[in-house]
Order: sequence, then C-alpha cells, then structure tokens
Amino acid sequence: MSDFESVIGLEIHAQVSSKTKMFCSCDNDSFGKAPNSNVCPICMGFPGMLPVPNEEAIEKGIKAAMALGCEILTHSKFDRKNYFYPDLPFGFQISQFDEPVSLKGEVEILINGEKKKIGITRLHLENDAGKLTHTGSDTLLDYNRSGTPLMEIVSEPDLRSATEAKEYAESIQKILRYVGSSDCDMEKGMMRFDASVSIRKRGDQNLNPRAEIKNLNSFRSLEAAINYEIKRQIKLWESGDPLSIEQTVGWDDDRGTTQVMRTKESAADYRYFPEPDIPELSIEPQQIESWRKEVPELPLKKYERFLQTFQLQEQEARFYSEDSALADYFEQVAEATNAKSANSFVGTILIKALKDKNLSIIDSPVSSAQMIQLIQLIESGKVSNNLAKGDLFNWMMETGQDPERIVEEKGMTQVSDTSRIQAFCETALKENPQAAEDLKNGKMKAMGSLVGAVMKASKGQANPQLVNETLKQLLGL
Ligand code: ZN
Ligand code: MN
Repeated sequence: MSDFESVIGLEIHAQVSSKTKMFCSCDNDSFGKAPNSNVCPICMGFPGMLPVPNEEAIEKGIKAAMALGCEILTHSKFDRKNYFYPDLPFGFQISQFDEPVSLKGEVEILINGEKKKIGITRLHLENDAGKLTHTGSDTLLDYNRSGTPLMEIVSEPDLRSATEAKEYAESIQKILRYVGSSDCDMEKGMMRFDASVSIRKRGDQNLNPRAEIKNLNSFRSLEAAINYEIKRQIKLWESGDPLSIEQTVGWDDDRGTTQVMRTKESAADYRYFPEPDIPELSIEPQQIESWRKEVPELPLKKYERFLQTFQLQEQEARFYSEDSALADYFEQVAEATNAKSANSFVGTILIKALKDKNLSIIDSPVSSAQMIQLIQLIESGKVSNNLAKGDLFNWMMETGQDPERIVEEKGMTQVSDTSRIQAFCETALKENPQAAEDLKNGKMKAMGSLVGAVMKASKGQANPQLVNETLKQLLGL
C-alpha cells in the first residue's frame, strides 16, 4: 500500500431539464440547432436586459438537493460572479454565493459492496456560458448554450480514489435522473466534472494544497485524470517539491496528462456581489414540503429493497435499479406474477428485444400489463412456455397487441386435450423407433427427442408435461 492517501472532492455541473433557459424564455434544448439561433437579448447579455429566474428550474434544483439529503434554505439569492471570458458576454455569471438554495447534504455510495457516506457541501443554481470552437487561428462563438440552467453540486473532500470518484459521479447521475432534474446526457454536455485532488501522508488529517482539474466530460476521463494527477503530485512530493499553492489544471484526453493552467483563483478574485436585477428568493415551507413528497425512492434504496424483496443477484438488482422506468416495469411484473418469471421475461427476453430494436424501456411496444398477461397465460397452461417466449412474444413486440388476442387469432392455445396428445405421441413413437427402443431400455435422453418430435408436429402447442406422461404410458414405463 502506498504511503500516500489521496483526498478528492468533486464539483458537478448538471444541466437542469427545464423547458426554458435559466433567466429567459429561450428553449433549453439547443442540441443540433444552428449556432446562435437559440438566443435572445437576455441570454446574450445585452445592456439593459432583465433576467427572470425560471420557476421550473428552481423546483427541479431543489428536488435534486432534497434527493442529496441537503437542507433547503427558505431564503436564498443570486449573485454576480465576475470574470471575463469571450464565451461570457455578460462579463459575469449569475450564480449563488453565500446564500444558495441548499446546503449540507450526504449521499451514500457502494464501494466494494460497502456503503460509504460522501458529504455534499451545497447545491446551487447558475447559468452556463456559451461555447468556443477553435479552428486554426480562428475562434468561433456559439451562444446557444449561454443561459442554460445548471445545478452545481459540490462535494466534501471525502473521496479517496479515482474509483470512488467515478462511483460517486455515477451515483449522482442516477439520482438526478430518478428525480427528473437532469437527463445527465454526457454526450450532449449535460454533465461535467471538476475534480480537486491533493495528497497527504497516510494517517495525516490536514488538507494540503490541491490541484483542480477543470471540465472533465466523461467518467472515463474523470478516472484517468485523477489517477494521473495523484501520480504527478506524489512525484513532486518525493522530489522534495510538493504543491505549495493551489493550481488549476487542464486534462488533455489525447495525451493522457494534466497541464497547469494557472494558480487557482479564490472567491475574492471573483468580486461576488448580490445580483441587483433579481430579488431575493423566498420559498414557502409548505411549498418545500409538497416538493419533498414528489421526490421518489432513490436508486440505492431501491437496489437494497429489490435484493431483499425479490431475492435477486446483486448484479440483477443493480441492473434494474439503474433506471427508474425499468425498475418500475420490473417491479410491476414481479409483483403481479413472481420474481423468477419477471426476471426471465423482463431481464432477459424483453431487454434483448429492445436492444435489437434500439428502443428504451419507455418506448417498449410490450407494456408491463401485457407482460403480466403473457406470464399468466403460461401459468394457467393456456400457452406453452416455448411458444410464449418465441412466436407469441415476438408477435407482441411487432404489433403491441395483447397476448390473449394474439393467442386467439393465431390459434396458439396449448393443446391439453388427451386424445389429441395421444395421437401426436403415437405418431412420434412410430416415426422414431430407435428413440422409442432406447427409452424403453431406460435411456432417458431419448425422451428429449421424442418430446421434440411431438412439439414440432403440434407447432409448439402440445402441453409438454402431458406429452411426457403420455409417452411413458404408451411405452408402459
Ligand atoms: Zn434567451
Ligand atoms: Mn459553477
């Protein structure tokens, strides 16, 4: 084990999934739009513009903060964070400084099957800047993103490795999606990370100067950048020249290295002051309580409940609890039927079919109610297991029709009529004399090919259990 311990905290910026931008009525979905086509004087920072806070964004931000166990402040305000950058036409960002919407929360994450608590310092709301594209000696500006509502979630320095940081970031993604506060689509830049990394001798309690790695936009680069930064700092320490001041560094994905950009700015450098164009935010306690009721069960809780209630493997419980729509679907089916059938029909058959069609669970042609019907048709002996999992299910995926209707229209009902089964079996024995002989001599393997022959002749509709019994009877076994 290394002599050093790494101390890591994350700042996560996540785009709030509101209809409009943070302070104007521009569409909050700029994806694929022509550059600078989704802007107005407010989000372009024109002189005299008057920002109006977006109620939906505030509600979604506060619900996210609740899911992160944060204390919600009934009084908060927006502040100007002053800095110059070409993608920020205002010359300042509207953010929240000393009175954010929420403070002091806590999230539990699973590390090697053990729960670990990660402190949340705060969640505040702010607007995003535009986008710069450097091409050769030119720089292009697209302000479509300008004014996009963001939640900034700051953690305590409670993380001890790149793996923990990644697990924490993934947990936050799941939670924000569950609550419906952000889609967290990394490919569309809806979630980004800044990681503060410092090291200390194992056993020490002090915090040493840190490096902040800016703007990591994938889980993979988050993990790689932290690992690189830890190694760099250990090397500096061992060469007798540890970090003495805080640094801001950038991650170069192609080269796999961090580069020092500047010494880190402190709050005083930003000359924060209350945003004079926006009145202080005051939220009624009743409003807060009614929002709290809408915060759903969180992924880790659901995971644990699924493990217990449905006796799933850890892997399976994790898979279902990853996505709240999938979790709901699975739970509805498991409750109406049983966990074993639900696991097989939802976890294996449906998921595979959806993947083949490139559909998500919300767009599934087979509803959970239809899935329940399908499983009940097998349990009541109306259709055979094989037919249900094969032709019948495929037809449901194609048409979205109720299984009962398909069974009736396509004549898929299982044959349990003993005289018809007997006829099928007699033919099978006659046509497969060798297998019949083997079975008589106690070679039970031969049973499989005889049952197979009957199933084929009956187009999968014979009740396999009856076929089994009838074959034995006919052979006097
Ligand atoms: Zn606008
Ligand atoms: Mn920020």
